[in-house]
Amino acid sequence: MRRKLAAGNWKMNGLDAALSELEGLPAAENCDILLCPPATLLAPMVTKSVALGGAIKVGGQDCHANATGAHTGDIAAEMLADAGAGYVILGHSERRADHGETDADVAAKSLAARRAGLIAVVCIGETEVQYKAGETLDVIRTQMHGSLPPGSSLANTVIAYEPVWAIGTGLVPTTEEIAQVHGFIRDELATQFGQGMANGTRILYGGSVKPGNAAEIFATADVDGALVGGASLKAADFGAIITAL
Ligand code: PEP
Repeated sequence: MRRKLAAGNWKMNGLDAALSELEGLPAAENCDILLCPPATLLAPMVTKSVALGGAIKVGGQDCHANATGAHTGDIAAEMLADAGAGYVILGHSERRADHGETDADVAAKSLAARRAGLIAVVCIGETEVQYKAGETLDVIRTQMHGSLPPGSSLANTVIAYEPVWAIGTGLVPTTEEIAQVHGFIRDELATQFGQGMANGTRILYGGSVKPGNAAEIFATADVDGALVGGASLKAADFGAIITAL
């Protein structure tokens, strides 16, 4: 049985005062809750989570492949773990677009996450052009082969399917489309890593998940939760999404 996961990506949003939002989140017995704040809020968020009982897991939004070194502005997986993180988002489309991250970069970062004991939330998804050209499944297969290093397992990896055209746009694929892609991802996991990983790995949907559409998306086959951007910033919205899981 796969445990559901409600993951929030705060992106480059949130000052210290935003941590008070954690107080408004519901206790969730049926799912894990993960929040990935900017690096400046990692340690304070961990402290806040512990003060609230520790149910909210905390993750980074990226890491470098190396453990130390001359990489100004970057952060190592070991540093995220040292700050109390348990997860790290990797290969988000904004990093792929803004920083030119390739599948090979994401695979190297996944290995770094594993080295540091973090669970990698590996993001994959097609662009609007690829979607309109009917290339979605080919793109997903290529990204999975390139971004998931050998040794990836259900214990160290979560997949987030995020159509790039659905992120922050209010557009969402149909539930049939989501089910098709998630089923395809599970089949590809079986091909690449075996049936055990395919059966046990959590596959999140991400892209304009809101309180109003969460229940329908979560009822879709092979959806094990969500990676939520904008709607994770406010407890009322993220709480409603958590409750819908
Ligand atoms: C995201 O950036 O991962 C995301 C899904 O954003 P939003 O929920 O705002 O579309």
